[in-house]
Amino acid sequence: MILGCHVQMKAPLYVEGSVKEALEYGANALMLYTGAPQNTRRKEISEMHVEQARDLMKENGIPMEHMIVHAPYIINPANSVKPEVAELAVEFLEKEIERTHEIGARYLVLHPGSFTTTDLETGISTIISQLNKVSYRYDDVIICLETMAGKGSEVGFRFEHLAEILEKLNHTEQYGVCFDTCHTNDAGYDLCAFDDVLDEFDRIIGLKKLHVVHLNDSKNSRGARKDRHENIGLGTLGFDLLHQIACCPRLSNIPKILETPYINKKPPYKYEIEMLRKGVFEKEILLNM
Ligand code: FE
Ligand code: FE
Ligand code: ZN
Repeated sequence: MILGCHVQMKAPLYVEGSVKEALEYGANALMLYTGAPQNTRRKEISEMHVEQARDLMKENGIPMEHMIVHAPYIINPANSVKPEVAELAVEFLEKEIERTHEIGARYLVLHPGSFTTTDLETGISTIISQLNKVSYRYDDVIICLETMAGKGSEVGFRFEHLAEILEKLNHTEQYGVCFDTCHTNDAGYDLCAFDDVLDEFDRIIGLKKLHVVHLNDSKNSRGARKDRHENIGLGTLGFDLLHQIACCPRLSNIPKILETPYINKKPPYKYEIEMLRKGVFEKEILLNM
């Protein structure tokens, strides 16, 4: 089971610290931001302990493809109202692709963005035209558009949106998809029939485009269009379903990344990962953290 979680990336050990944190949780995959997700200030890669991080991954038998980078969520290539925002998205995405390449990671998760005050179709066409401005100098990096919850004016809450974007990108071979279980539930997909949802994904996007799963429970019911993550087993999806997804043979080669909230200011990942590996839900452990 390729299972990991979102980890911190901070001084003094940076990426090396991220790998150490993941190992403490018993993870064999991880996801990090290259800096604060809400801004574009970034440290030089040369100062981020990348060599040490790679050695640590190797020592523990974790391939670099299991280290996922998440682009900051301020990147909004769907914004046609403020062209400077979309322009910043292009410029910053290029740098983020370069950083992902320099770290040696393969997958860069990106939110498609929000159309703000226009409409869905304008949002989709803006994303396509902006992403087509990006110069792709590193073909070892695959940008994974994330399935969104459809909160506010978010684009990408239907597989059809992502399919249309992928279809119209000049460099579609540099793109894939990240499937978030909380988001797809909130967007209205019935994950209880998970195989059917995967069939639909396969028909519309193609399963070969799926490279990352975000495994989260949801605080909200199906179709709520909210995007509020819940700890594994404590939400509306429930432990059995999330365990089933974690074990799904069709996704066996794909890293599943937890982005569940801290409990009492403490990371729950060690316990959540252990529960998913064992297939036993221990609610009390989470509630008494
Ligand atoms: Fe995300
Ligand atoms: Fe996510
Ligand atoms: Zn989310």
